[in-house]
Amino acid sequence: MLDDWEKTEKPLVLVAAADAADRKLIWGALQKSGFRTLPAADGPTALDMFSKTQPDAVLLDAKLPETDAFSVCQAIRARDAGRETPIFMVTDRDDSESVERAYSSGATDIIDKPLALLVLPHRILHALRTARSLSDLTGLMRAIPDLIFVVNEEGMVQDGLSGPDATHTLQLKALTTASQIDFYPCENDDRARACIKRALETGKPQVYEHELKGLDIHLETRFVTRDKHTVLAIVRDITERKNSEAKIYNLAYYDELTELPNRELFSQSLERTIKVARRDQQKFAVLFVDLDRFKRINDTLGHSIGDELLKDVAARLANCIRAGDSVSLVDPVPRGAIRLARLGGDEFVIKLYGVGDEETVAKVASRITDALTPPFSCAGHQFVVTPSIGIALYPRDGDTAEELLMNADSAMYRAKNVGRNNYKFYSETMRTKSLHRLDLENLIRLAIEQKQFELHFQPKVDAKSFRLVGAEALLRWHHPERGTIPPGEFIPIAEETGLIVPIGQWVVREACRQVNVWSTSPVGAVPVSVNISSEQFRDNGLVQDILGAIAEANITPGLLELEITETVLLQDVDKTLAELQAFKKAGIALSIDDFGTGYSSLSYLKRFPIDTIKIDRSFVKDLHQDADDAAICAAILAMSSQLGLNVVAEGVETREQLEFLRHHGCDHIQGFICSEALSPADFMALLEDLANPANESPGQDQAIA
Ligand code: C2E
Ligand code: MG
Ligand code: MG
Repeated sequence: MLDDWEKTEKPLVLVAAADAADRKLIWGALQKSGFRTLPAADGPTALDMFSKTQPDAVLLDAKLPETDAFSVCQAIRARDAGRETPIFMVTDRDDSESVERAYSSGATDIIDKPLALLVLPHRILHALRTARSLSDLTGLMRAIPDLIFVVNEEGMVQDGLSGPDATHTLQLKALTTASQIDFYPCENDDRARACIKRALETGKPQVYEHELKGLDIHLETRFVTRDKHTVLAIVRDITERKNSEAKIYNLAYYDELTELPNRELFSQSLERTIKVARRDQQKFAVLFVDLDRFKRINDTLGHSIGDELLKDVAARLANCIRAGDSVSLVDPVPRGAIRLARLGGDEFVIKLYGVGDEETVAKVASRITDALTPPFSCAGHQFVVTPSIGIALYPRDGDTAEELLMNADSAMYRAKNVGRNNYKFYSETMRTKSLHRLDLENLIRLAIEQKQFELHFQPKVDAKSFRLVGAEALLRWHHPERGTIPPGEFIPIAEETGLIVPIGQWVVREACRQVNVWSTSPVGAVPVSVNISSEQFRDNGLVQDILGAIAEANITPGLLELEITETVLLQDVDKTLAELQAFKKAGIALSIDDFGTGYSSLSYLKRFPIDTIKIDRSFVKDLHQDADDAAICAAILAMSSQLGLNVVAEGVETREQLEFLRHHGCDHIQGFICSEALSPADFMALLEDLANPANESPGQDQAIA
């Protein structure tokens, strides 16, 4: 009859009866069924024994001497150990008053006299088992952090099952409500009522989440069917989980620095926009905005300034598209009203809904450019940041998010190529030529292997006599299918990926080899200048590579010049200075390329062993329209002459430019006015021509006209 464990832990029953014969009868019946019993002849003894032994069940004869059985029952119930103990009161069958009193003093059950001795052990055992289940359940409910209510069909709370402890675990201490259930008004909540209904109909638990407004507390309720008309509502505080979910969402979909949506979120929103636009036959534009020369700022002034700048740019862009006047900028996509995102680095993207004609989009693009025009100031520095913007239109330039972004990106590269601070539309004709950044990286690797690179040489001439004084080696990439890819398109990517190092090694070797070839020409050797990007200075083998190339080609080091940018002089100053001095010592000449576009002071011109500066084409270009540019050129020329530096003006195209530069004492010029970059064969032909006496004009041997 007993379970295994009940047999080893034999249940102990306290039997209190005045009559010795009764005690014996009961004792016999229980003993036979495997119980242990403790006899007590009166109330005080029974209470004393209860305290000492803490029996599993108590049997009390209603007629006990001294203290009556009802008081004993009450006294046991009043003790902690006795709160749940099954207590049986033995009464006469017809003694209705005793039955009443027994229950009201806390008895679990009544056992009639005369005693049915066969049934007695079963009834006790049943009560013991029920008591045990109940105590398990109470323990469980105390242990779980949930609140449990009984809720009816209308969502009204009928009863609270778990103790007030649970309110603490629910972090609801802040609530001053007297009742733990007041804060849970699910009768006013349609969603909750629907869940309750579903739980009652299907018999399956239903989960419902809601937020306690103004308290930042999130609750999750499980409605579990209890009977036909009520459910148990098991309520759990899930605030922490919700908060970390929100954090994860933000990390996954927002850019931490600018707090703008990131690429992932933007792409998703773009997909949705495409669906809506397709349905409503609407057009829209995607503008890819990339900052010119941002990398330079980042490299030279440090990431924290770069970060500040990006935040400022983000704010200006946001402001700029908010002030949408002529353009409908209202994104119709619910939850997807994302119009501006940061794709990474210095790349931003803007979506203009409902705009399809180039003219309107162009207006917005100009507005963006204007918004970024006023100088930025961070940490005492002032910067001018110009954007290059590429534009793709839906549906004309693509009908998937990926395609639109890719084409806007290509258009942006085009904008950079034709001179920065510009915008360009992606057009059909670009499709064949355009390259995506990732493609490009792979293609560059192949190009090195398959020898698709070639060096062209642009003559540098004396500004007065037009005599040839040297040549700049400019990299050309002939791709078998894509044709010639201009350096502006692939060099930035080669720099980003580090591929510029192997490319640069090849360039120097090839340039030195050409100088050697030219030395066999009738006019003899011509000095060559080679562009070295700042990334190459980060590589430790630069000095070795260059000295090696000179030795390999067996040329005089004085015939090689390195063109470096101002950026190089600002990064890791000590290391750079040592390297430049090593070049100088070896007899190699050094020039500063694109002079005037960097962010450095002029002091480095004295500090570093520089021979030549090259005035950037952007200043030469507008000499005649822009008084500032003219003043800058004149100032650079005056200063260089004072410092004893040689000056080359880049990108000279017109007679007026030439005259101006000559007038201000410019030594050398380079530009289409005398020649574009020439293939090795054409350059050799030029050298041969120069030696031809038929081309000679008096006093101008080796002059290009
Ligand atoms: P850069 O060093 O300033 O080279 C001058 C650029 O101006 C060349 O463009 C040249 O073709 C162009 N140019 C010269 N005269 C004129 C003119 O009168 N009018 C106009 N509109 N343009 C003129 P290119 O060859 O496209 O090269 C662009 C840039 O790519 C170069 O600017 C240089 O920074 C980089 N680059 C070229 N080759 C190499 C290389 O071998 N290594 C590295 N690191 N960079 C290179
Ligand atoms: Mg150059
Ligand atoms: Mg230049």
